Amino acid sequence: MKNVFKFLMLLGVCASINLACSSDDSLDTTDNDDTSEETGITELSSAFEQFSDAVIVTLSDDGTEIYIETTGYPNHTSIYWDPSNSLYIDEPTVTKTTQDTYIGGGTGEAASFTVDATPNLTGATVATELNTIGIAVSGASIFNDQEGGGDLDQAAGSLDFNGAHKGPGVYHYHLEPRTISNDDEELVGILLDGVFIYGRKCNSTGTYPTDLDASGGHTSITQYEDEALYHYHIINEEYNAPLYGYDEAIVLFAGPFQGY
Ligand SMILES: [Zn+2]
Ligand SMILES: [Zn+2]
Repeated sequence: MKNVFKFLMLLGVCASINLACSSDDSLDTTDNDDTSEETGITELSSAFEQFSDAVIVTLSDDGTEIYIETTGYPNHTSIYWDPSNSLYIDEPTVTKTTQDTYIGGGTGEAASFTVDATPNLTGATVATELNTIGIAVSGASIFNDQEGGGDLDQAAGSLDFNGAHKGPGVYHYHLEPRTISNDDEELVGILLDGVFIYGRKCNSTGTYPTDLDASGGHTSITQYEDEALYHYHIINEEYNAPLYGYDEAIVLFAGPFQGY
C-alpha cells in the first residue's frame, strides 16, 4: 500500500517536471533545430472549398491541426431522406435497413474531428475501424468495407445509388459515391488521418494511377495542390456485391490508414 502511494507521488512529481520542461521548450524555439517537431501550415488547402455547407473547417492557431465539423447530412438525393424532404427519391432496388430510419431522424449524426494538418507519413499503418473513417465533400460519413464486423455482402441490398445507407446512426458511404465521383478524378473527402481521397482517376495523368500502395495512395500533384502531396484514390477494382441494386460496386476505402 505504502509503495503504491510512493509510486503515485513519484508519478505526480514527474508529471509536473514534464509540464515545466515542455513550457520551457516552447519559450526556447529559436535555438531549437529539431526538424522532427511538427511545423504548422499557414493556409488550408483549397480542396476544402469543395466541401458542402454542412462542413465547417478551421485551422488551429499553430497550424498543426484542422478541426472539421459536419451535420452528417449529405447534400444529394437518397431513399434515406424522409419522404417529405426535397432530396428524397424512391429507389425501388434498395431495401432500407429499417423502414422508419431517415437522415435527420436519428441521433449522433453531427460529428466533429481533429486531423493533423500534415499527415504523419512514416510508413507505419493503422487499420480502419467500424465507424466513421472520414468525411465526404457532401457532408456525410465515409465507412470502410466492413459491416458490423463482417463483409458488406449481407448489407449490400440496403446501399443506395451512392453506395451508402443508414442504421440508427449516421448515413454513411461504403462504396464509390457516384454523385460525388463516378469513375473520375473528383475529390471525394478527407480521411481521419488527414489525407484526402480522390476518385479512381488522378488529375496528374487523367487516368487510373498505376503506382498506388495497398491503401490506394501515392504522391503526385492534384487539381488543388501545386506541390506533389500524398493522397488516396478509390482503388479501381470491382467489388462483388450480389445483393447490390445498381450496376457496379467499387469499395470506397478499405484501409489501412497511412497518415496517422
Ligand atoms: Zn454500413
Ligand atoms: Zn493521384
